Amino acid sequence: MLNLILFGPPGSGKGTQAENLIEKYGILHISTGDLFRYEMGNNTPLGIKAKEYMAKGELVPDEVTIGMLKNKVDANPDVSGIIFDGFPRTIPQAEALDAFLQEKNTEVTALVALDVPDEELVKRLLNRGKSSGRADDNDEEIIRNRISIYKSETAQVFDYYAQNGKSKLIPGVGSIEEIFDRLVAAIDEAC
Ligand code: ADP
Repeated sequence: MLNLILFGPPGSGKGTQAENLIEKYGILHISTGDLFRYEMGNNTPLGIKAKEYMAKGELVPDEVTIGMLKNKVDANPDVSGIIFDGFPRTIPQAEALDAFLQEKNTEVTALVALDVPDEELVKRLLNRGKSSGRADDNDEEIIRNRISIYKSETAQVFDYYAQNGKSKLIPGVGSIEEIFDRLVAAIDEAC
C-alpha cells in the first residue's frame, strides 16, 4: 500500500494538492478536517464535540480524532493506498497511526511537507475565508492560533518520521503545477 502523509501548516495547500495526487495515484483521500466538517454539518455527537475546538482553532482531542480516522480506514478495506491529510497532527496520533497500520501489515511510505512562510499562510487563509464559509478562516486571530498550534504541537511529527528517513520538505510556494511536480518527484523517490 502507498500510505502518504500530506503535511504542512493550515493554508499550505494540502487539500488542493491532495485532489491532484489521488487522481495520479488512484488512492483514497482522508482529510480529518473534512470528516469533522461533515459530522458538524450533520450535527452528530462527534460533530458537536469537534465544533468546540475547531471554532477556536484548537486541536480536537486525540482520542476523538484517532477513533474517527480508524473508522474511516476500516470502512475502505480494499484501497491500494491512502493520503492522510491533516492527520497525524500530534505525536500520539502518529504513534497510533503507526500501530494501526502495522496491524494491517503496512506502514507509512512517506511524509511530504509543504513549506510556506507564515505571512503567505495568513494571506491565503483570509482569502479562502471569503468563499469557504469556514468560520475558522475568517478571523485573523484564529488563523494565527492555528499556525502557532501547528508549530507547538504538529511540527514535531515531521521530526518523528524524519528519524526513519521518511520526511521530505517540499517548497510550497509557486504554481499549483510546480508544487505538484515536486511532490510527485519526492513520492516516487520514496516508493
Ligand atoms: P487546516 O489544515 O486548513 O487548518 P483542516 O480542515 O485540516 O484545516 O482542519 C480544520 C480543523 O479541524 C483544525 O483546526 C482542528 O480543529 C480540526 N482537526 C483536523 N484534523 C485534526 C487532527 N488530526 N487532530 C486534531 N484536530 C484536527
